[in-house]
Amino acid sequence: MNRIKGTVLILLIVNMFYMDGFSQPAENPVIAHRGAWKEDKLPQNSIASLKRGIEMGCFGVEFDVHLTKDGVLVVNHDKDFYGVDIATSTYKELLNKKHPNGEPIPTAKAYLEEGIKQDRTKLIYELKSSALGKEYTLKAAEETVRLVHKLHAQKQVEYILFDYDAAKRIMALDPQAKVSYLNGNVSPAQAKRDGFYGLDYHYEVYKKNPSWIKEALELGLVVNVWTVNTEEDMRGLLDKGVTYITTNEPALLMQVVANRAEK
Ligand code: MG
Repeated sequence: MNRIKGTVLILLIVNMFYMDGFSQPAENPVIAHRGAWKEDKLPQNSIASLKRGIEMGCFGVEFDVHLTKDGVLVVNHDKDFYGVDIATSTYKELLNKKHPNGEPIPTAKAYLEEGIKQDRTKLIYELKSSALGKEYTLKAAEETVRLVHKLHAQKQVEYILFDYDAAKRIMALDPQAKVSYLNGNVSPAQAKRDGFYGLDYHYEVYKKNPSWIKEALELGLVVNVWTVNTEEDMRGLLDKGVTYITTNEPALLMQVVANRAEK
Protein backbone atom coordinates (compact mmCIF):
# COMPACT_ATOMS: atom_id res chain seq x y z
CA MET A 1 0.00 0.00 0.00
CA ASN A 2 2.79 2.37 0.99
CA ARG A 3 4.50 1.56 -2.25
CA ILE A 4 1.41 2.56 -4.21
CA LYS A 5 1.15 5.79 -2.20
CA GLY A 6 4.82 6.43 -2.89
CA THR A 7 4.33 5.87 -6.60
CA VAL A 8 1.32 8.18 -6.65
CA LEU A 9 3.33 10.84 -4.82
CA ILE A 10 6.21 10.54 -7.29
CA LEU A 11 3.77 10.79 -10.19
CA LEU A 12 2.21 13.89 -8.63
CA ILE A 13 5.63 15.48 -8.18
CA VAL A 14 6.64 14.60 -11.76
CA ASN A 15 3.35 16.05 -12.95
CA MET A 16 3.98 19.26 -11.01
CA PHE A 17 7.35 19.65 -12.66
CA TYR A 18 5.82 18.83 -15.99
CA MET A 19 3.10 21.46 -15.56
CA ASP A 20 5.70 23.91 -14.34
CA GLY A 21 7.66 23.15 -17.48
CA PHE A 22 4.81 24.63 -19.48
CA SER A 23 5.38 28.01 -17.90
CA GLN A 24 9.08 28.32 -18.61
CA PRO A 25 10.30 30.62 -21.36
CA ALA A 26 12.70 29.13 -23.88
CA GLU A 27 16.30 29.19 -22.69
CA ASN A 28 16.94 31.65 -25.50
CA PRO A 29 13.65 33.51 -26.05
CA VAL A 30 15.10 36.36 -28.12
CA ILE A 31 13.60 37.17 -31.51
CA ALA A 32 15.03 40.27 -33.18
CA HIS A 33 12.17 42.24 -34.75
CA ARG A 34 13.03 43.15 -38.39
CA GLY A 35 16.59 42.03 -37.69
CA ALA A 36 19.07 43.39 -35.16
CA TRP A 37 19.36 46.93 -36.49
CA LYS A 38 19.29 49.33 -33.60
CA GLU A 39 22.79 49.51 -32.14
CA ASP A 40 24.62 49.61 -35.47
CA LYS A 41 21.94 51.80 -37.10
CA LEU A 42 21.37 49.23 -39.84
CA PRO A 43 18.32 49.34 -42.08
CA GLN A 44 15.46 47.22 -40.75
CA ASN A 45 14.91 44.02 -42.73
CA SER A 46 18.29 44.35 -44.46
CA ILE A 47 20.64 41.40 -44.91
CA ALA A 48 23.07 43.29 -42.65
CA SER A 49 20.48 43.29 -39.84
CA LEU A 50 19.93 39.55 -40.33
CA LYS A 51 23.68 38.90 -40.09
CA ARG A 52 23.89 40.99 -36.93
CA GLY A 53 21.02 39.03 -35.31
CA ILE A 54 22.82 35.80 -36.16
CA GLU A 55 26.14 37.10 -34.76
CA MET A 56 24.38 38.08 -31.54
CA GLY A 57 23.02 34.55 -31.16
CA CYS A 58 19.33 35.44 -31.24
CA PHE A 59 16.95 32.48 -31.21
CA GLY A 60 15.30 34.00 -34.24
CA VAL A 61 15.37 36.93 -36.60
CA GLU A 62 11.98 38.18 -37.73
CA PHE A 63 11.48 39.70 -41.20
CA ASP A 64 8.58 40.82 -43.39
CA VAL A 65 7.84 39.60 -46.89
CA HIS A 66 5.73 41.02 -49.74
CA LEU A 67 5.10 39.86 -53.30
CA THR A 68 5.97 42.17 -56.20
CA LYS A 69 3.78 42.65 -59.26
CA ASP A 70 5.96 40.19 -61.19
CA GLY A 71 5.86 37.51 -58.50
CA VAL A 72 9.12 38.10 -56.60
CA LEU A 73 9.04 37.76 -52.82
CA VAL A 74 10.94 40.66 -51.24
CA VAL A 75 11.85 41.59 -47.68
CA ASN A 76 10.56 44.94 -46.35
CA HIS A 77 8.21 46.08 -43.63
CA ASP A 78 6.17 48.78 -45.35
CA LYS A 79 4.09 48.32 -48.47
CA ASP A 80 6.54 50.61 -50.26
CA PHE A 81 10.32 50.60 -50.51
CA TYR A 82 11.39 54.24 -50.16
CA GLY A 83 8.25 55.39 -51.97
CA VAL A 84 8.02 52.61 -54.59
CA ASP A 85 4.87 50.56 -54.04
CA ILE A 86 5.84 46.88 -53.89
CA ALA A 87 2.61 45.15 -54.92
CA THR A 88 2.22 47.23 -58.09
CA SER A 89 5.90 47.41 -59.09
CA THR A 90 8.23 44.93 -60.66
CA TYR A 91 11.30 43.75 -58.81
CA LYS A 92 13.44 45.64 -61.31
CA GLU A 93 11.60 48.87 -60.52
CA LEU A 94 12.34 48.37 -56.84
CA LEU A 95 16.05 48.21 -57.64
CA ASN A 96 15.93 51.94 -58.42
CA LYS A 97 16.03 52.53 -54.65
CA LYS A 98 18.58 51.40 -52.09
CA HIS A 99 18.83 51.13 -48.33
CA PRO A 100 21.11 53.79 -46.77
CA ASN A 101 23.80 51.10 -46.33
CA GLY A 102 23.80 50.52 -50.09
CA GLU A 103 21.82 47.26 -50.09
CA PRO A 104 19.04 46.79 -52.62
CA ILE A 105 15.73 45.45 -51.29
CA PRO A 106 16.56 41.84 -50.39
CA THR A 107 14.65 39.11 -52.17
CA ALA A 108 13.27 36.52 -49.77
CA LYS A 109 15.49 34.04 -51.63
CA ALA A 110 18.68 36.01 -50.94
CA TYR A 111 17.61 36.58 -47.34
CA LEU A 112 16.91 32.90 -46.71
CA GLU A 113 20.11 31.86 -48.48
CA GLU A 114 22.06 34.06 -46.09
CA GLY A 115 20.10 32.72 -43.10
CA ILE A 116 20.66 29.06 -43.88
CA LYS A 117 24.43 29.45 -43.97
CA GLN A 118 24.08 28.72 -40.25
CA ASP A 119 21.63 26.63 -38.24
CA ARG A 120 21.47 28.29 -34.83
CA THR A 121 19.20 31.25 -35.51
CA LYS A 122 15.71 30.60 -36.84
CA LEU A 123 14.24 32.66 -39.66
CA ILE A 124 10.90 34.03 -38.52
CA TYR A 125 9.16 34.68 -41.81
CA GLU A 126 6.24 37.10 -41.64
CA LEU A 127 4.20 36.95 -44.79
CA LYS A 128 2.43 40.29 -45.16
CA SER A 129 -1.16 40.52 -46.37
CA SER A 130 -1.35 41.95 -49.88
CA ALA A 131 -3.00 45.35 -50.40
CA LEU A 132 -4.37 43.86 -53.63
CA GLY A 133 -6.54 41.39 -51.74
CA LYS A 134 -6.87 37.87 -50.45
CA GLU A 135 -6.12 36.19 -53.76
CA TYR A 136 -2.68 37.82 -53.87
CA THR A 137 -1.98 36.98 -50.24
CA LEU A 138 -2.78 33.33 -50.94
CA LYS A 139 -0.58 33.40 -54.02
CA ALA A 140 2.24 34.83 -51.90
CA ALA A 141 1.70 32.00 -49.39
CA GLU A 142 2.05 29.42 -52.17
CA GLU A 143 5.17 31.10 -53.57
CA THR A 144 6.59 31.21 -50.05
CA VAL A 145 6.22 27.48 -49.44
CA ARG A 146 7.64 26.74 -52.87
CA LEU A 147 10.69 28.93 -52.19
CA VAL A 148 11.38 27.57 -48.71
CA HIS A 149 11.21 23.99 -49.99
CA LYS A 150 13.36 24.75 -53.01
CA LEU A 151 16.05 26.07 -50.66
CA HIS A 152 15.57 23.13 -48.24
CA ALA A 153 15.09 25.73 -45.52
CA GLN A 154 12.05 24.10 -43.85
CA LYS A 155 13.83 23.25 -40.61
CA GLN A 156 14.95 26.80 -40.07
CA VAL A 157 11.90 28.75 -41.13
CA GLU A 158 8.95 29.49 -38.86
CA TYR A 159 6.01 31.40 -40.32
CA ILE A 160 3.95 34.19 -38.81
CA LEU A 161 0.92 35.78 -40.49
CA PHE A 162 -2.00 38.11 -39.84
CA ASP A 163 -4.05 36.43 -42.58
CA TYR A 164 -5.73 33.33 -41.17
CA ASP A 165 -6.53 31.84 -44.57
CA ALA A 166 -3.00 32.28 -45.87
CA ALA A 167 -1.67 30.71 -42.67
CA LYS A 168 -3.96 27.73 -43.22
CA ARG A 169 -2.83 27.53 -46.85
CA ILE A 170 0.79 27.24 -45.72
CA MET A 171 -0.16 24.48 -43.26
CA ALA A 172 -2.09 22.64 -45.98
CA LEU A 173 0.86 22.82 -48.39
CA ASP A 174 3.35 21.84 -45.69
CA PRO A 175 1.81 20.03 -42.72
CA GLN A 176 5.19 20.13 -40.92
CA ALA A 177 5.41 23.93 -41.15
CA LYS A 178 5.53 25.83 -37.87
CA VAL A 179 2.94 28.56 -38.31
CA SER A 180 1.91 31.12 -35.69
CA TYR A 181 -0.98 33.56 -35.91
CA LEU A 182 -0.46 37.27 -35.33
CA ASN A 183 -3.85 38.93 -35.34
CA GLY A 184 -4.89 38.35 -31.74
CA ASN A 185 -8.56 37.59 -32.40
CA VAL A 186 -8.46 33.82 -32.07
CA SER A 187 -8.51 31.86 -28.81
CA PRO A 188 -5.77 29.35 -28.01
CA ALA A 189 -8.29 26.50 -28.33
CA GLN A 190 -9.32 27.55 -31.84
CA ALA A 191 -5.72 28.06 -32.96
CA LYS A 192 -4.89 24.59 -31.67
CA ARG A 193 -7.91 23.07 -33.45
CA ASP A 194 -6.85 24.70 -36.69
CA GLY A 195 -3.37 23.21 -36.49
CA PHE A 196 -1.30 26.23 -35.52
CA TYR A 197 2.12 25.83 -33.93
CA GLY A 198 1.73 28.93 -31.82
CA LEU A 199 0.26 32.28 -31.01
CA ASP A 200 2.24 35.43 -31.69
CA TYR A 201 0.10 38.25 -30.34
CA HIS A 202 0.66 41.87 -29.37
CA TYR A 203 1.23 42.15 -25.63
CA GLU A 204 -2.01 44.13 -25.20
CA VAL A 205 -3.94 41.08 -26.43
CA TYR A 206 -2.53 38.96 -23.60
CA LYS A 207 -3.36 41.76 -21.15
CA LYS A 208 -6.98 41.77 -22.32
CA ASN A 209 -7.13 37.98 -22.22
CA PRO A 210 -5.10 37.13 -19.14
CA SER A 211 -5.79 33.39 -19.31
CA TRP A 212 -4.54 32.96 -22.88
CA ILE A 213 -0.82 32.52 -22.21
CA LYS A 214 -1.41 29.68 -19.76
CA GLU A 215 -4.17 28.13 -21.88
CA ALA A 216 -2.00 28.20 -24.99
CA LEU A 217 0.99 26.67 -23.21
CA GLU A 218 -1.16 23.92 -21.72
CA LEU A 219 -2.46 23.12 -25.20
CA GLY A 220 1.14 22.75 -26.35
CA LEU A 221 1.17 25.95 -28.39
CA VAL A 222 4.24 28.13 -28.47
CA VAL A 223 3.60 31.65 -27.17
CA ASN A 224 5.40 34.55 -28.78
CA VAL A 225 4.67 38.21 -28.07
CA TRP A 226 5.43 41.48 -29.90
CA THR A 227 6.91 44.03 -29.79
CA VAL A 228 8.36 44.24 -26.30
CA ASN A 229 11.06 46.85 -25.78
CA THR A 230 11.21 47.69 -22.07
CA GLU A 231 12.91 45.73 -19.35
CA GLU A 232 9.80 45.86 -17.17
CA ASP A 233 7.55 44.38 -19.86
CA MET A 234 10.16 41.75 -20.73
CA ARG A 235 10.39 40.64 -17.10
CA GLY A 236 6.61 40.56 -16.67
CA LEU A 237 6.11 38.43 -19.77
CA LEU A 238 8.96 36.04 -18.96
CA ASP A 239 7.40 35.61 -15.50
CA LYS A 240 4.15 34.65 -17.21
CA GLY A 241 6.02 31.94 -19.10
CA VAL A 242 5.85 33.20 -22.69
CA THR A 243 8.10 31.08 -24.89
CA TYR A 244 9.57 33.86 -27.03
CA ILE A 245 9.67 37.64 -27.06
CA THR A 246 9.97 39.65 -30.25
CA THR A 247 11.85 42.88 -29.60
CA ASN A 248 13.62 45.85 -31.15
CA GLU A 249 16.06 45.53 -28.24
CA PRO A 250 17.58 42.04 -28.51
CA ALA A 251 20.70 43.01 -26.52
CA LEU A 252 18.56 44.28 -23.63
CA LEU A 253 16.42 41.14 -23.66
CA MET A 254 19.55 38.96 -23.61
CA GLN A 255 20.70 40.89 -20.55
CA VAL A 256 17.31 40.48 -18.84
CA VAL A 257 17.39 36.74 -19.52
CA ALA A 258 20.98 36.44 -18.21
CA ASN A 259 20.05 38.34 -15.03
CA ARG A 260 17.08 36.06 -14.42
CA ALA A 261 19.25 32.96 -14.86
CA GLU A 262 21.71 34.22 -12.23
CA LYS A 263 19.01 34.44 -9.57
MG1 MG B 1 6.83 41.82 -38.88
